[in-house]
Amino acid sequence: MADLGQPAYRTSQVWEWLARGAGSFEQMSNLPAGLRSDLAERLPISTLAVDASARSVDGTEKALFMTADSRPVEAVLMRYRDGRRSLCLSSQSGCPLTCTFCATGAMKFGRNLTESEILDQALHFRRIEPVNHTVFMGMGEPMMNLDNVLAVCERLPEAGIANSHTTISTVGWLPGIQRVITEGPSVRLALSLHAPNDELRSRIMPVNERFPIADVVGACREWRHTRKRKVFIEYLMLGGVNDTPDLAHELADLLLPKNDFKVNLIPFNPSGTGYEGSSREAIERFRSILVSRGIHATVRLTRGRDIDAACGQLAAKAAA
Ligand code: SAH
Repeated sequence: MADLGQPAYRTSQVWEWLARGAGSFEQMSNLPAGLRSDLAERLPISTLAVDASARSVDGTEKALFMTADSRPVEAVLMRYRDGRRSLCLSSQSGCPLTCTFCATGAMKFGRNLTESEILDQALHFRRIEPVNHTVFMGMGEPMMNLDNVLAVCERLPEAGIANSHTTISTVGWLPGIQRVITEGPSVRLALSLHAPNDELRSRIMPVNERFPIADVVGACREWRHTRKRKVFIEYLMLGGVNDTPDLAHELADLLLPKNDFKVNLIPFNPSGTGYEGSSREAIERFRSILVSRGIHATVRLTRGRDIDAACGQLAAKAAA
């Protein structure tokens, strides 16, 4: 706008249109016609180009984007019967961490995404329909790109997504958790724990060598007491690896006595990494042990399995 000799408020006007789902500058009827065509000539409406999209029988929609420097980025819209429209956004192209079960972890790391590249994933779906929830559970570790992720969180309410409906999911990147305890918008926190002891967790998530469980869970408790919201514990159910009754009890021991957490058991989406998902019976047994110990535990609904909607699956295929 400055280059075009325009007053600063024009920028806010454009953002307001985008946040409400506008797909072209031409639609922005409170801008002068000459400015609209100038903008259309100079600027793409998004920093991302749509490379592929797929729609699941359950209504889940996944998009694979390319950045201007040809980095793959994926995002998903999940539609629920109760009206929830939940976005799953990526914070990085690829991921430098190498969780052994994760398709993104097996890809080459590209780079951190910019604030615009993260926001443009959300705006892509906002142009299709109104949205109201966001999880940072796409590609990448959001806490390794925290400045940009927090900047996006500040913007999302204007696009219809309250901070109380926004969840940052982390492997347990301690400096990031410590920072959001005191700083940034009041979003929700999810920890990808996946194992109740350091020996097992380090085997499946090498990042655990750097930030051991006691420190990470301690930081989550601190977050809970400062932010007054429970922390979600994500626990991927890997057959014969982390799904035994003993481990369920060990997880309960770790999370008790205080009721600071909600556990979400995640059925594994096959990712070509050599793991198998736990059986339905094993998941139910694990859940009932947690519940019998007084821990709130639910099993996550699997969405979009027919369109490779799990973390990194689409981008990993495109890169292959
Ligand atoms: N780096 C962040 C966010 C991205 S991954 C984090 O780890 O939390 C989002 C969630 O998807 C994590 O809990 C991750 O462990 C999980 N995940 C990765 N691969 C998966 C798969 N194949 N099936 C199910 N969940 C998976």
